[in-house]
Amino acid sequence: MGLLSVKDLDIQKGDRVFIRCDFNVPIDEDGVITDDRRIRAALASIRYCLGKNAKVILASHFERPTAGEFDEKYSLKVIINRLSGLLKKEVVMPKNFLLDDEAIELSKNLEYDQVMLLENLRFNEGETKNGLEFAKKLSELAEFYINDAFGASHRKHASIHAMTTFFDNEHKAAGFLLKKEVTFFDKMVKTPTRPFVAIIGGSKVSGKLEAMLNLIDKVDKIIIGGGMAFTFLKALGYEIGNSLVEDDLLEDAKVIMEKAKTRGVKFYLPVDVVVADKFAENAVSKYLPIQEIPENWMGLDVGPATNRLFREAINDAQTILWNGPMGVYEMDKFSKGSFMMSHYVADSHATTIIGGGDTGDVVSRAGDIEEMTFISTGGGASLELLEGKTLPGVEAVSASFDGRLS
Ligand code: AMP
Repeated sequence: MGLLSVKDLDIQKGDRVFIRCDFNVPIDEDGVITDDRRIRAALASIRYCLGKNAKVILASHFERPTAGEFDEKYSLKVIINRLSGLLKKEVVMPKNFLLDDEAIELSKNLEYDQVMLLENLRFNEGETKNGLEFAKKLSELAEFYINDAFGASHRKHASIHAMTTFFDNEHKAAGFLLKKEVTFFDKMVKTPTRPFVAIIGGSKVSGKLEAMLNLIDKVDKIIIGGGMAFTFLKALGYEIGNSLVEDDLLEDAKVIMEKAKTRGVKFYLPVDVVVADKFAENAVSKYLPIQEIPENWMGLDVGPATNRLFREAINDAQTILWNGPMGVYEMDKFSKGSFMMSHYVADSHATTIIGGGDTGDVVSRAGDIEEMTFISTGGGASLELLEGKTLPGVEAVSASFDGRLS
């Protein structure tokens, strides 16, 4: 892919470097950051530039605000203290929530014990529209551009895409995190150590259909859990009660299973489930074989026999890719399948790659973070890589990019 490297940039003392980060971190009801991995993951590139005595301008989106309106709920001010603590620098933010000349002045006057953080980029109309005018304004903030926002690189947004056209190949690059993520997925998909096992869970088949079809050509085993398993089970003729299902994808589910069979890929579905009488923590629940799901009950987690089956299936794995929880792990009662899977993956001798915010959250709650080889910071972006797509934000910091925005 020929990614442009930060190390090849001739950054001199006092140069301004714009780093597009992904600071879209989870926040609880009290405004406390519950998981700061995305901030920590950006530190390598930031510290590298600070080490060159550059003036660092950081920018990110944060959730999905309405453009043009300030809403405290979507303000990136929420990360200032954490960022400042990690960098041991003062973090300054322009007064106006929309990008204006004041921000450009501020960038020029930054002190060496400061870094600058822009407000949520999505407050500006032009960001999600990949607007050239907005991109140009952003480009006036710096002499160098670095994209380190892997989690947003599947989007053609101004700070990810259009902005790169204002910098030549000597003045833009992929940050360390972006490079690490792309290299990891590339290597895993192209030259995995075998057996290569993909564990796919989460709510829906629809979001992961393309990735699954692409993965079947590359993996030795596929394990399916979570809500999406019920679409496969229904396609096989099981009664699934009120469990989550995508009826319009029953045919696709059959195609996936057929394809797996033709390619000799072993395909694993749950053999038992935890069923509940309603979608709630205080629901009545019981373990049942998948053959016995009663009408009006829904499967919200995989059962103990399935845990054992899945454990055996990953026993000989040398590479494991896991994307999507095995059940509704947010509710204690239905979290066991996901936590057990986290422990099995952590205990394996395989190279383990965790994709998707939810799965990262499961691994973190299960206390297995340190045991995994690699935890991706981007759910949607990693899925698109698995689908075999080139991410617009990655292409834009590649040596071969022709600058076309369409
Ligand atoms: P996704 O964003 O597709 O990876 O899905 C993650 C979500 O799937 C989590 O919020 C889980 O609560 C949910 N989920 C997992 N298993 C089930 C299930 N059996 N029924 C309903 N939702 C589920």
